[in-house]
Amino acid sequence: QFHMIKHEDLTWSESLGQGSFTHIFRGSKTDQRDGVTHSTEVLLKVLDANHKNCWESFFEAASLMSQISHKHLLLVYGISVHKSKNIMVQEFVKHGALDLYLKKSTSVSVSWKLDVAKQLACALNFLEEKNIAHGNICAKNLLLAREGDPSTDNSPFIKLSDPGISMALLGKDVVLDRIPWVAPEVLNTLEIELECDKWSFGSTLWEIFNNGEAPLQGLDPIHKQQFYEHFSNLPALEWTELADLISQCMQYQPELRPSCRSIIRQLNSLITSDYEILHASDTLPK
Ligand code: ATP
Ligand code: MG
Repeated sequence: QFHMIKHEDLTWSESLGQGSFTHIFRGSKTDQRDGVTHSTEVLLKVLDANHKNCWESFFEAASLMSQISHKHLLLVYGISVHKSKNIMVQEFVKHGALDLYLKKSTSVSVSWKLDVAKQLACALNFLEEKNIAHGNICAKNLLLAREGDPSTDNSPFIKLSDPGISMALLGKDVVLDRIPWVAPEVLNTLEIELECDKWSFGSTLWEIFNNGEAPLQGLDPIHKQQFYEHFSNLPALEWTELADLISQCMQYQPELRPSCRSIIRQLNSLITSDYEILHASDTLPK
């Protein structure tokens, strides 16, 4: 269950765009604590009026996030219902979505990206232990709470956002558009299992290490579907050990994908200096 927030306690600011069947706004929420009025910056996610039939699934996502608590999972404060408007009220994360951040930043170090990958693996491990499948893992759904600085010991800090509306309700076009983040087996079943998140983790790693570039960008839905029908793989990253981890995660047979413990172990064994040496050799005279 979730906390109900009074609509009059919400203040609306600018629009931050649209999601899957949603409109997103920045805003604030006031509440009374010890007789004092507090104001908190929030993110308001409004379900589209023409997809009102998805409200149960929308609130299920909110409820899932409010029931579990982990440092790398986004905080959902509650929901608010006003007339026919369904609103999810969540923590506002300062630096926004990771894909956009990586696209606009010119130099993000490998160790910074690796830190982000480890934090996501940590969140997935927590979900795996609780036997909860997320179902919508991608760089867009990783929010950057702290930028950090690779030149000092100040690491970035990410939070995994809510999964949103269930795949079964989104429709074929949205599901095809989520290739290659959505695991191939989901196209048939529209059911999310723990193993699906491992696949999505693999393509999110690919995305992070390609500076937020969407994998299979520009491919139309038919070709995206063919990518799976032909059991294709994403182009391998030049860092072999990392490429290997991605291909383990993105195995077409779900039961072959690694456990979160194994993912974490492999991430911890990656040595960034190997990668930097690999790059340095590119610039050396042959
Ligand atoms: P989906 O269910 O497909 O993830 P959505 O409704 O969550 O859809 P997104 O596309 O994930 O919408 O988010 C849209 C944009 O809103 C993001 O690119 C990001 O910039 C911003 N955003 C989303 N959540 C937050 C948040 N909690 N804090 C700050 N910005 C956010
Ligand atoms: Mg989202």
